[in-house]
Amino acid sequence: MKGVHWGSLYDDFKNELFDTSELEKEIAELMIDDDVTKRKGIYQYVLTRNEKYLNIRAFSESQKRFAYERQNGICANCNAPFELKEMEGDHITPWHAGGKTNAENCQMLCKDCNRRKSGK
Ligand SMILES: [Zn+2]
Repeated sequence: MKGVHWGSLYDDFKNELFDTSELEKEIAELMIDDDVTKRKGIYQYVLTRNEKYLNIRAFSESQKRFAYERQNGICANCNAPFELKEMEGDHITPWHAGGKTNAENCQMLCKDCNRRKSGK
């Protein structure tokens, strides 16, 4: 991987086996993924699989409003009614499973359900 400074990351992970050609292909795909807002975090991500390093794009206000109207203000998980401001956008198909940050893949969850789902 020319020009990439693995530095201390490499020291931490050198004992693990990586298929470098698969890894390079994945990195190339992440580089052009519009939902990855933090390109610098790609290397940390492929080593740790922690999505926080990529800062995956959040749903826009209009995408959230669209999903909210579609659900008639009902939380997709607990089926209780909420105000839009009491809810948060959630990826129906998770980003790591190929789900995009777009209106079709957005569902609104109440804050409690979203917190429980994402394990925050
Ligand atoms: Zn809920």
